[in-house]
Amino acid sequence: MGTSIVIIGDANAGIITANKLRMHTRKDVEITIIGDSEKTYFKPEGVLIPFKGVDYRDTIKPTDFLINYGIKRIKARAEKIDPENRSVLLNNGNNLSYDYLVIATGNRLVPESIPGYDDSIYHFYDIANVLKLGKMLDDFKGGKIIVGPSSTPFQCPVAPAEFVFGLDLLLRKKGIRNKSDITLIIPMKDVLPFKNVSDMVRKGFEEHGINFIPGFKTESVDTGKNTVTSSGNESLQYDKLILIPPHKGQKLLTDSGMADESGYVKVDKLTLNYKNYGNIFVVGDAADFPMKVGALGHSEAGYVAGRIASESDGFISSSEFDGFMGCSSVYADETAFTLSFDYNSKPFVNFASKSDYFLKYISGDTYFSSIIRGVI
Ligand SMILES: Cc1cc2nc3c(=O)[nH]c(=O)nc-3n(C[C@H](O)[C@H](O)[C@H](O)COP(=O)(O)OP(=O)(O)OC[C@H]3O[C@@H](n4cnc5c(N)ncnc54)[C@H](O)[C@@H]3O)c2cc1C
Repeated sequence: MGTSIVIIGDANAGIITANKLRMHTRKDVEITIIGDSEKTYFKPEGVLIPFKGVDYRDTIKPTDFLINYGIKRIKARAEKIDPENRSVLLNNGNNLSYDYLVIATGNRLVPESIPGYDDSIYHFYDIANVLKLGKMLDDFKGGKIIVGPSSTPFQCPVAPAEFVFGLDLLLRKKGIRNKSDITLIIPMKDVLPFKNVSDMVRKGFEEHGINFIPGFKTESVDTGKNTVTSSGNESLQYDKLILIPPHKGQKLLTDSGMADESGYVKVDKLTLNYKNYGNIFVVGDAADFPMKVGALGHSEAGYVAGRIASESDGFISSSEFDGFMGCSSVYADETAFTLSFDYNSKPFVNFASKSDYFLKYISGDTYFSSIIRGVI
């Protein structure tokens, strides 16, 4: 029998790994992907859909359709991993054994960990909440909006800034910007961990009258009094609160003893291996890296697929992951800038353009036609 590869997680990094592996391995290599998602949603468009930048129906595809021919799919959830015995327990009671395991289970949103977080609070981190938020903004007549991530880590460090630039433009188009106040709260010291990029984004905030409060880690919300309070005991009043819930990795990983309470697995940054298990890889947001971005998961999937494919052909692979990622980020007035960097270089930006915005605008099409398919 050929090599058996099991991938847990049926969205971004998991499907890309499976599809790339299928292209690069012999027929007798068995590739199985585990997950029970009916649909796959392209989350980066959460910063465009509420402003009618794109139609949400174009950002969702049936998951079955995205998994290439020759890959076995098991519609179940993984409940426990036993690295010593190379097996995965599924919620249908079956045990699956593997030669190689790829973990791609992403994040879970835990709004319940913020006291007072309830349904009157909005966010744009899953499709149901994106649509609910879009409806609120349709009816919005002016007032004070506070936007921000409640804590770190959270997916896509630029997404909150992208969102407030889109919100500023929407309110101007609606003719109610002068009756509205936009404040971005950020738990980190600055907008992003890169000074050069943060400098440019903060300049955009100033030019567009967007208030920016760094170092605001949300401790609690009082939706009766419309206040949000930081761990430093600073309270802010709002009319509408758009608060990104805290993130954790999956409980499966904590329950399997592979992660602490955070749910994220520590991996070697050059091999993406868990501990000294050369046959277990973690790709995408499930790894304990601060940068939770699909573009990084995309590069990681390419690296891991290449390595497993060459090992399954009998070669010893000594290649190392270079940490590369590249993505376009929305800036003010329907412009954008594009960042790319790796472990040895920092992102640099000094302008935003309409053509970069176009790249962002079409990224859903590129994603579904090429990236998730494993073609690029
Ligand atoms: C608003 C927003 C904007 C963003 N913008 C960008 C951007 O511009 N550029 C960018 O690169 N990234 C962006 N991101 C981040 C990007 O979407 C994520 O980093 C990416 O989706 C993570 O991919 P993943 O495969 O690791 O996890 P996910 O896409 O979350 O997939 C995890 C999968 O694992 C499955 N799963 C979980 N637990 C189990 C289990 N126990 N058993 C089986 N299956 C399981 C889940 O059901 C899911 O299908 C953005 C995110 C958001 C929310």
